[in-house]
Parts: sequence; structure tokens; C-alpha cells
Amino acid sequence: TEPLLEVDDLTVQYETESGMITAVSDASFVINEGEFFGLAGESGCGKSTTAKSIIGGLDSNGQITSGKIRYRGTEIQDYTEKQLNEELRWKEIAWIPQSAMNSLDPLQTISEQAVEIGTVHTDLSKAELREKLKEMFSIVGLQESRINDYPHQFSGGMQQRAVIALALFLEPSLIIADEPTTALDVIMQDQIFKHLDEIKAKLDTSLLLITHDISVIFESCETVAIMHASQVAEYGTVNAVYDNPRHPYAFMFKAAFPDVREPDRELEVIEGYPPQLGEEIGFCSFVDRCPWATEECRESAPELEAVADDDPIHVASCFRKEEAYELYQSERPTTE
Ligand code: ATP
Ligand code: MG
Repeated sequence: TEPLLEVDDLTVQYETESGMITAVSDASFVINEGEFFGLAGESGCGKSTTAKSIIGGLDSNGQITSGKIRYRGTEIQDYTEKQLNEELRWKEIAWIPQSAMNSLDPLQTISEQAVEIGTVHTDLSKAELREKLKEMFSIVGLQESRINDYPHQFSGGMQQRAVIALALFLEPSLIIADEPTTALDVIMQDQIFKHLDEIKAKLDTSLLLITHDISVIFESCETVAIMHASQVAEYGTVNAVYDNPRHPYAFMFKAAFPDVREPDRELEVIEGYPPQLGEEIGFCSFVDRCPWATEECRESAPELEAVADDDPIHVASCFRKEEAYELYQSERPTTE
């Protein structure tokens, strides 16, 4: 079957006072119908830029300079605001932005905002839309009666839950959630993920979950892409990337987070910093932090290539993907 979303060699640049910077460099991945897909990487690696490119929400100084984004087979990277609003936003793709709280209109109650969105995108009556919103409010842990509140009557965390309720209430095919849980406590996170699982079972909703915390992705997603300084370092099923990571950034990043499956493991720190982003990165962006880097890694940027013949979607962009993980494991002190 046709993938739901295909991101194909996406490059995104921002114009800044000090010149062009490339925030996303040749990123490729696929999200299938019903798939929970996690996009991970440290601050500034290009996660939000990738998400904004998909939904047509790039800042005005940002631009997709090459690559294609296909939604159900249709290229959408050049869609106008009008096309995005009429054909994609809310009903097909819902976006929970990183600064979710700021996305609410302070002058309208939540239910007024929901009715406005729902009237544009569905044939449902106002009463039906309010009912749907109430249902979502109870799911995200807000009192149903509070759909008639203004955003300022909510705390920050509650505003974020209201945004999540709005994103879910038209039952979109793809939900893009950019760090949706940073302002939520752990119990809320569990509740929302549990609900996402229910929606997925019922509606086959797909999720693009963006977070710096890869342990959340390992627990809740089926597929993961790990970015480092604008480049996709590794991408594959969670099982493959968890059991058999190939890019040094992928396995070092994994070791930097607590893991419920290895509760006693010590957390590792990745030394150094990603390179300053410039117009072009003609080398592996991890080279200065990688203990296994060679001259080759400075001379050109490795491309995403298959890790194993029997797993077509597990890819890594590392010249030493065959040996780096083995070297890492053999150099690692044993935990006994
Ligand atoms: P975080 O985890 O902190 O949210 P991120 O992975 O979402 O980070 P992005 O917000 O996509 O990262 O930013 C990628 C790069 O692009 C960073 O170097 C950032 O400083 C830069 N950037 C983002 N937005 C702009 C902008 N409007 N103008 C110039 N540079 C920008
Ligand atoms: Mg971000």
C-alpha cells in the first residue's frame, strides 16, 4: 500500500544575518498508515524544522530548497496556504506545535475555536462539534465543562492539553506532536499515549512524535529516525535501531537516556558539540564527537545506506557502520 507520508531528500535553509544555514539536510523517511514514528535528536538538530516543513509552517525566513514531501502520493511541498488549509490541516494532518500554548487564540473560548475549525473542515453541526470536543477534553484529563473557558483561564499544562484535544478532535490521519509532553507530568503523558494507542486501534491514526528523549520513542513508537545537526543519522524500526544501532550518534544517544529495560545502566554523556550550521555540510556532522571517525568522515557526508540486506528500512549514514558498534561494545566496560 501507498505510504501516508514520504519525506524525500528534504533540505531546508534559513536566511540569517550571518548567511544561509541548512537546518535540514537531505532528510528522508516514510510514515505508513497507522504507524507511530518517532523523530529524535538533541536541541537544534532540525526536528521542528522538519515538522514545520510538512505542515507548511516554516518561519518566514525559512525555505524548502530541495526535496519532496508527498502525502498519500501527492506532492505538497509547494502547496499554498489556501491549499494547505483546505486539503490538509486539521482533518488530515493535525499539528501540536512545540510552543503549543501560543497556538490558542486568546480572544476565543476553546469551544469557539473548535467550532470554527470544525465548521471549515467537516459537515458536523455546532452541537456535534462541541460533543466531540468534550469527549477529547475528558480524554486529555480536562473537565468537559471547561470547553467554554478562554485560554487564559487555564494553566500552561492545561493549555497544552487543550491544544492536544483540538488536534485530536477531528480524528486526523496524521498527528504531528512536537515535544507534546514536556509541560505534562508523567501520569498525563501515560494517559495521552494510552489514548493515542486507542485512537490508533480505532482509526488507524499515524503519529509523528518529536522529542529529544529517545526512551519515550523506544517505548511508544514502531519506527524511529535519529537526527544529528541537520542530518538523519539512522532510521529504522524501533526494534532494529534499539537492538542493532549502527550510527555512533544513535548508540551514544541511546546510552544517554534511562531505559526501563536496563534500569541499572549508567547514563553516558556525549562529549562536544555539533558543528555550527552553515550553508553546506560537506562532511559527517558527528565527526568531531565521534571516537571512531577517520579522514574519510571529514572529506564527504555519508549517505543513508541499508544496514542489512534483510531489512530494507534500517538505514544509517556512517562510513563505519559495519564496525563502529562492535568497537563501541568491545571498548565498553562490562556492567558486572
Ligand atoms: P529543539 O529540540 O531545541 O526544539 P529542533 O531539533 O527542533 O530543536 P529546529 O528548531 O528545527 O531544531 O532548529 C534547527 C536549526 O535551525 C537550529 O540551529 C536553529 O537555531 C535554526 N533555526 C530554527 N528556526 C530558525 C529561524 N527562524 N531562523 C534561523 N534559524 C533558525
Ligand atoms: Mg524543536
